[in-house]
Formats: sequence, structure tokens, C-alpha cells
Amino acid sequence: MDVISSIEEMRQDSARARARGQRIGLVPTLGALHEGHLSLVRVARERTDRVVVSVFVNPTQFGEGEDLECYPRDLERDTALCREEGVAVVFAPSAREMYPAGHSVYVDEQDVSTGLCGASRPGHFRGVLTVVAKLLNIVGPDIAVFGQKDAQQACLVRRMVTDLDIPMGIVVAPIVREEDGLAMSSRNRYLSPEERKRATCLYRALCLARQLVEGGVVDTGVIRERMRALIDDGAPPVAIEYIEIVDNRRLKPVDCVEGETLVAVAARVGSARLIDNVVVKPACS
Ligand code: AMP
Repeated sequence: MDVISSIEEMRQDSARARARGQRIGLVPTLGALHEGHLSLVRVARERTDRVVVSVFVNPTQFGEGEDLECYPRDLERDTALCREEGVAVVFAPSAREMYPAGHSVYVDEQDVSTGLCGASRPGHFRGVLTVVAKLLNIVGPDIAVFGQKDAQQACLVRRMVTDLDIPMGIVVAPIVREEDGLAMSSRNRYLSPEERKRATCLYRALCLARQLVEGGVVDTGVIRERMRALIDDGAPPVAIEYIEIVDNRRLKPVDCVEGETLVAVAARVGSARLIDNVVVKPACS
């Protein structure tokens, strides 16, 4: 397995692979890899001949006062995990390599990015889409694999490759959870043991939403209230940022659950900002 930090070398590596007739799969990450990331690697391996994992803590997607400085970084462990999973290349550029002096072009989506996490993290998705566009141009994959865990991000990347005519496939893989249901996240390590226990209320609230919908409750106002009560908003250390029930395509709030609908939550648990979601569908649809 190769670890590459230069854009030029990465390009050449992909060009050689393509010349050999290999299909390339890209898994973009911020590093601090866990089973959730590795599940994406396995999906990419099943579908392509050569998997590239990018490990890059992208500064442009972190806002003022967010956790850019303390975001966990452990390239040695990440590369060891990738090697065990049969990854061909870890692409780990520096911030200077990706954003040299003078960089001034960004990808700005104007619709899907405004709600959910976009409402409280201005500029976040601009940073995400910009770095994903750069990675796609550098690696030139046949497919890129993203996690449903970041449902809005996956939806936006799909929008971007469609709108900007980027010739490649986007695959979205299911959320990998801990045994008690907490969605795996690099940020879970910020949780104290007590906070870790309380954090499971997010998934329990999502399960409640699914149960309600399957039992015939489709009024999203009622579902959100029941979820809020279960999460016990404002009882430290949990503070809800949003509970949204939105259509699964454009991510706009709906009054009534009809067909596939995304139920998404974001909350602060101690110092960690956690997100999670489920897709629900009424029994009769
Ligand atoms: P991150 O390093 O947090 O930016 O995540 C990199 C990719 O892994 C994104 O496409 C995430 O959606 C995905 N991912 C993160 N956590 C999980 C999880 N628990 N299950 C599935 N995919 C995940």
C-alpha cells in the first residue's frame, strides 16, 4: 500500500491504474478511521479494483469556534487499518498542498445545503463540496463511496456530480452503529462515559419515529414532539440543535410522512456535536 501526499503523484498513480484497465474507488475521510469508514472501504473494494482512501482534515469545512484544532489525527493508525482492508493508496495531502496561496474558487450549492446542518454551520457544505470536487479531480475515480450517516452531505455530493457533469458514480452506504445503537463517529471520542450513555437517546428517538410512522402516525409535528420528549432536550449534557423530518430528495421539511422520508437529528452532547438519521416509510406506502 502506498501513502501519497502530493497531488501530482496521486494523479500519476491513478493514470497508471487506469492504463492497466483498473477501476478506481475513492473513499473520502477526515481520518481517525473507525468501522463506519471501513465499511465504505469494503463497499468500494467489492465494486472496484483499486481503492483510494483520502485522509484530510479539511480546514474549509470547519467554522469559527469548531473543532478543527483538536480533531483527532492519527495517520499511522489510519494507514495500518487501511492496509489490513486491502486499500491500495492512502492519499494524505497537507492543507498547503490542497489550498496553496491564492486558492480562491469554491463550490457553492444553493438549495439542499441551506437546511439541516447547513443552517447552523454556515460555509460548512461549501468547504465539503469544494474539497470533494478537488479530490474527484485529483483521483479521477469511477465511483466514490459516502456514508448515509452524513445524509445531507451524500445528497449534496450527488447533486454536485449531476449539476457539474462529473462523470462518475456516487454510492451511499448504510450507517454503522455501536451495539447500543449510537452511530459510529470520530467525534464520539469527545464523550465522557456519562455523556456516552446519554448519547444513545438520539438513536432511541429515531427508532421511536420509525415505530410511530409504521404504526400510522404521519403528522411530523407530533413525531418531532415525541422525539423531543424522549431526548429530554436541555437536560445537560444533551442540547438538541434540530429534529427535522424532510423529503428524502431535496431535504425540505414535510408536514406529513408520505413515501420515503428522512428523519434527522443533530445535538450537542457535552462538547461533541453528533448527528444521526433514519429513513422511514409508512407501512401502507
Ligand atoms: P468523516 O471522516 O467523518 O468525514 O467521514 C467520512 C465518510 O465516512 C463520510 O462519507 C461519512 O458519512 C462516513 N461515515 C462516518 N461515520 C459513519 C458510520 N457510522 N457509518 C457509515 N458511514 C460513516
